[in-house]
Amino acid sequence: MSYAEVIGDPIAHSKSPLIHGFWLEALGVDASYRATRVAPEELGDFIAGRAADPEWRGCNVTIPHKLAVLAHVGDPGGVGDSIGAANTIARGPEGLFATNTDAAGFYAPLAELDLAGAPVIVIGAGGAARAVLFALGKIGVGKVSLLNRSPLKGAALLAKFGLKGEALPLTAPLPPARLVVNASPLGMAGQPPLAIDLAPLPEEAIVYDLVYAPLETPLLQTADARGLETIDGLDMLIGQAALAFELFFGAAPPRERDEELRALLTA
Ligand code: NAP
Repeated sequence: MSYAEVIGDPIAHSKSPLIHGFWLEALGVDASYRATRVAPEELGDFIAGRAADPEWRGCNVTIPHKLAVLAHVGDPGGVGDSIGAANTIARGPEGLFATNTDAAGFYAPLAELDLAGAPVIVIGAGGAARAVLFALGKIGVGKVSLLNRSPLKGAALLAKFGLKGEALPLTAPLPPARLVVNASPLGMAGQPPLAIDLAPLPEEAIVYDLVYAPLETPLLQTADARGLETIDGLDMLIGQAALAFELFFGAAPPRERDEELRALLTA
């Protein structure tokens, strides 16, 4: 039976098997999806082994392999250069290739909004922030204020993505913005909350938290209490998985059943 999987280290926490399993069952596709722990030193042999298995459709890739996989597979879309991270490996006519569905998954809930020229705040400068900044560049947002524990890292990322703006420490007061994105792990279970004051934000500001465990982060609760529009991390998680699912199994997942899937993921 054909199969796909998610690889990382650690990997037990991954929600990808639930998502892909839900869609496979809903569509009646005779295939499976699992989570596989792959240590960094095993990555090259793992990919070579899977490449030789005709039943293997590909994999999602999470920490710590998002950069390292690019040394082992093709990169026809140039995500190594453009985003600097891959989150999916699939089979193409030229063999295995890497791609990044995080940027499109992040963008999906914003697609109906007119954010061109709008000032944006991004918190964090890790792998997720890279996908976010890439998407914001494509949207053509205005000034980007990037808050990070190490502002130097933030400044380097702004330059890499050709975004105009400023790199600030996490303690800086927020400038007014139309969109605030938390792309740091702060607020995740086991991490301290993201301690920022939302008071400077205008009424029409949207607060988007990439963290999805818990779903209702302290940041989103505070934004909600202020009456601001919020977007939680499941939108992006489901969006990036949907694109990968099509690459693996050649079928569009049944997105009309997202509410059911969200209930399953938060049960
Ligand atoms: P990462 O690469 O480990 O990012 C770490 C970033 O967070 C760095 O900028 C780091 O600052 C900052 N940071 C980490 N711990 C901190 C702390 N205690 N205090 C202050 N700053 C801290 O992680 P990632 O892959 O970008 O993921 C970030 C978050 O996004 C995670 O919660 C992840 O679950 C979530 N995510 C969600 C989706 C989705 O589909 N919803 C997709 C991808 C990621 P320094 O640069 O100073 O070290």
